Amino acid sequence: MFTAFLIKYAEIGVKGKNRYLFEEALVRQIKYALKRCEGEFKVTWRDGRIYVHALSEFDYEETVDNLKTVFGISSICPVVQTQDEGFEKLARDLVNYVDRHYEDKNLTFKVHTRRARKNYPMNSMEVNRELGGAVLDAFPQMSVDVHTPQVMLNVEIREKIYIYSTEIPGPGGMPVGSNGKAMLLLSGGIDSPVAGYMIARRGVKIDAVYFHAPPYTSDRARDKVIDLARRVSRYAGPVYLHVINFTDIQLYIYEKCPHEELTIIMRRYMMRIAERIAVENECLGLITGESIGQVASQTVQSLAVTNEVCSLPVFRPLIGFDKMEIVELSERIGTYETSILPYEDCCTIFVAEHPVTKPSLKIIRRHEQNLEEKINTLVQKALDTDEMIIVRWDRP
Ligand code: ATP
Ligand code: MG
Repeated sequence: MFTAFLIKYAEIGVKGKNRYLFEEALVRQIKYALKRCEGEFKVTWRDGRIYVHALSEFDYEETVDNLKTVFGISSICPVVQTQDEGFEKLARDLVNYVDRHYEDKNLTFKVHTRRARKNYPMNSMEVNRELGGAVLDAFPQMSVDVHTPQVMLNVEIREKIYIYSTEIPGPGGMPVGSNGKAMLLLSGGIDSPVAGYMIARRGVKIDAVYFHAPPYTSDRARDKVIDLARRVSRYAGPVYLHVINFTDIQLYIYEKCPHEELTIIMRRYMMRIAERIAVENECLGLITGESIGQVASQTVQSLAVTNEVCSLPVFRPLIGFDKMEIVELSERIGTYETSILPYEDCCTIFVAEHPVTKPSLKIIRRHEQNLEEKINTLVQKALDTDEMIIVRWDRP
């Protein structure tokens, strides 16, 4: 019975001169999400309103589910469209709408009319009053409540007339592509996919880098990260995932540096390499899943020492979150089940029993000098192993 959706967007509505760019990005992302749905659709965009029109049979649930992945959408309103054939016809259409959508008529309601076409012969107040009267005549059990109605009957008078009363919440945020690009350090854990989701939700396009350490980490661990990237790409659009072989660097650090500093030095090399790949790929920042105090390498002191090697800004959207909150988010966005699969990630292999929790930058730098002989060659070799995989939700 619904043949179209009105797409509402809150935040991007207030962007002044840039508004056009945001709307354009939103329309692009909506079209991209609809490609995954059965059926043919047309997206129209005029006067600050975006409509998705179904041109063929379509699967309502599937379409709504996919629209719910488009950042920038604040709500999705399934609408019934009718032709403007005079007020009598409109009143009949509205009564029909109420009849079909609300089995139990013991409801309070309000009619809210928006008249985009100012040549309509009645003003909005008059339309509200008359339509309200028509609904009351048809269903005497219903009553008007202008302050907190149970049902808000929205009527938009444009070239066609649109009727809706349901608003399905969208994911909010801003459309991907409206805010530059950043490089996500994506591991197989719970945190980094959520971090990627959160930054993408602010309109940032995401590339990703994964460091693996074969044979210490398995192909299954790598596949798990690819699957996580795919789950993030459901919201963020196609993700260019760089897989980097980190084994020799890890072994070299293990050989040359105190074992309790291994993790922190390793993290510094990950950040350095990620930054180089980021710069080559026009990313303007790095993203990690770090959160203060979660593990030894995420104390404030450790974060400061890790951060010191980067000049790009590092976005850490989970920095103030408790683990439980991160878990809840990951369940909601659909990454949790994959994240908790047990395959080794490269950090857990060489982990010391008592890693430093308050590393001193001076000491870490001094120990990194032990690596002088070979590290630049090894970093270059690691960069040369870059295997770039384009990951999409619709194509695993
Ligand atoms: P996550 O749950 O994201 O794995 P974590 O709690 O295990 O995080 P760490 O292992 O300290 O934390 O890693 C901190 C961050 O460093 C991760 O959130 C991720 O952004 C990045 N990172 C860690 N290991 C890797 C890896 N093998 N490849 C790419 N990035 C990594
Ligand atoms: Mg991890």
